[in-house]
Amino acid sequence: MCKLNDNYLKLQGRYLFASIAKKVANFKKSNPHKKIISLGIGDVTQPLAPVIIEALHSSVDEMGHKDTFKGYAPEFGYEFLKNAIIKGDYNSRGVDISIDEVFINDGINADAGNIQELFSVDNKIAVCDPVYPVYVDSNVMAGRTGTYDKDAQRWSEVIYMSCTPDNNFVPDIPEENPDIIYLCFPNNPTGTTVTKDQLQFLVDYANRVEAVIVYDGAYEAYISEDNVCHTIYECDGAKNCAIELKSFSKRAGFTGLRLGYTIVPKELKCSGTSLNRLWARRYGTKYNGTPYIVQRAGEAVYSETGKEQIKKQIDYYKNNAKIIMEGLKAAGYSVYGGVNAPYVWLKTPNNMTSWDFFYYLLEKANIVGTPGSGFGPMGEGYFRLTAFGTYENTLEAVERIKKL
Ligand code: PLP
Repeated sequence: MCKLNDNYLKLQGRYLFASIAKKVANFKKSNPHKKIISLGIGDVTQPLAPVIIEALHSSVDEMGHKDTFKGYAPEFGYEFLKNAIIKGDYNSRGVDISIDEVFINDGINADAGNIQELFSVDNKIAVCDPVYPVYVDSNVMAGRTGTYDKDAQRWSEVIYMSCTPDNNFVPDIPEENPDIIYLCFPNNPTGTTVTKDQLQFLVDYANRVEAVIVYDGAYEAYISEDNVCHTIYECDGAKNCAIELKSFSKRAGFTGLRLGYTIVPKELKCSGTSLNRLWARRYGTKYNGTPYIVQRAGEAVYSETGKEQIKKQIDYYKNNAKIIMEGLKAAGYSVYGGVNAPYVWLKTPNNMTSWDFFYYLLEKANIVGTPGSGFGPMGEGYFRLTAFGTYENTLEAVERIKKL
């Protein structure tokens, strides 16, 4: 008889964004004439840069000719893309990465959820609180998180590292040592990040307690400040403890095209076994490669023209973030993030809960944002706005909020 993985039954609520989409759809139904502006889900709105479109066109043409047609891609990615990544994202920052440490994927979400498969279910995870929900949910599915306390909104076997204005959103070393530490810097949802020294401190800690760091750098392209690492491998000893995930989604508008990569250094060992070897084994079994045309599009991101065009897009979103930050500050809100990330994190006014503020903003200003409580218990009382809207909508949204 078929038996369920009943860990799935422990998952809390609907996936955050699905639940927001449903609430917004209901609002639209009863208010069909209202112009809703979404600063909610973190999806880009600018079209792909021309250089990427050119790369797509020419690689599509290659697929239509007998001599240049490509079937299955190499399981870990084409060398042309891996070499571009190594040169553009690592060597340029003084970091050596070898070609078999790079695993090309179709966006990092799946790897962020799947990487935990390498580790025993006895391992204890630590997450920043608040943070992107995939790390906890994928460990719930695996049966690693214990029981859920609805009142505290916490899993019994998860170590929560609070990131609030009180500690400047820098996680403190937890009292109990974790085995796996998920870090996301610049952070989604708070838009805040850590300095190089602070990250080095966390790397040293992980090495000391023999924990593995899963480092999600999805928003690296938005870093503006000089003392912030663009890769965790800028820290000494990080190759001994850290796996890094990097996405093309927010960096170059690939949310619909799907491309990212995972770095698993060869030095990284768990119980004496190379995680690179195990991840390669898993990849070869469960993943059949990212499409050729998408990898060619990714390669174009690293060309000189690509870099210029993509910088313009990122500057566009960063300007939106600035508009939101300045507008909300002028309206008297306490705001955080927004400098090294496309996210602005705000304290809800008058001690409203995150969801109360969600409804308030939707009903009174017809703006959609994301309730902070969806990202962890310490997100309660906070709210996330994203800079991924159009410039015009961002301006209008900020004016509407100011008038509330
Ligand atoms: N990690 C973080 C922190 C994210 O915010 C997101 C998407 O919003 C992802 C990973 C997923 O990225 P991808 O589109 O590459 O799957």
